[in-house]
Amino acid sequence: MSVLAVLRWPDRRLNEPAGAVAVFDAGLRHLAEDMLDTMYAAAGRGLAGPQVGAMLRIFVMDCRWKEGAPDPRVFVNPAIVTAEGEATRDEGCLSLPGLMVPVTRPARLRLRWQGLDGTWVTAGFDGVEATCIQHERDHLDGILHIDRTTGEIRTILAPALADLEAQK
Ligand SMILES: [Zn+2]
Repeated sequence: MSVLAVLRWPDRRLNEPAGAVAVFDAGLRHLAEDMLDTMYAAAGRGLAGPQVGAMLRIFVMDCRWKEGAPDPRVFVNPAIVTAEGEATRDEGCLSLPGLMVPVTRPARLRLRWQGLDGTWVTAGFDGVEATCIQHERDHLDGILHIDRTTGEIRTILAPALADLEAQK
């Protein structure tokens, strides 16, 4: 078990796009295990490769462990196939600790991704999982929840962001 260091905003790597995973080997499985260890240690529900400096299209997620049994999931090269509806939820991010950001996103989606053995899977998600998947997939394009906000909300967040920037 290894707990990795989580990059904190405004680290520039958080705004860079990650590359596709091409090799499905022990190294990738090891990275996924370390990312899950890191997510649980930080009491998070999701963690994307770039947040630990791994610029690869992979994220881990478990939206249920805080309420019940752990349900660790790993998504490699994820692509949103369809998305519909609209939901607004407060989102936290391990790279911007202490900040809750209301973001409006599609409420339901179908996702296509590869498992750690390279097998393609397609499934539907809704609720908190749909929000979490979109948040984590955004990380792979260098997009943060604060980048999904505008106007009034961005103005409200400004002092907290200045604090985070000062801690850097
Ligand atoms: Zn995040």
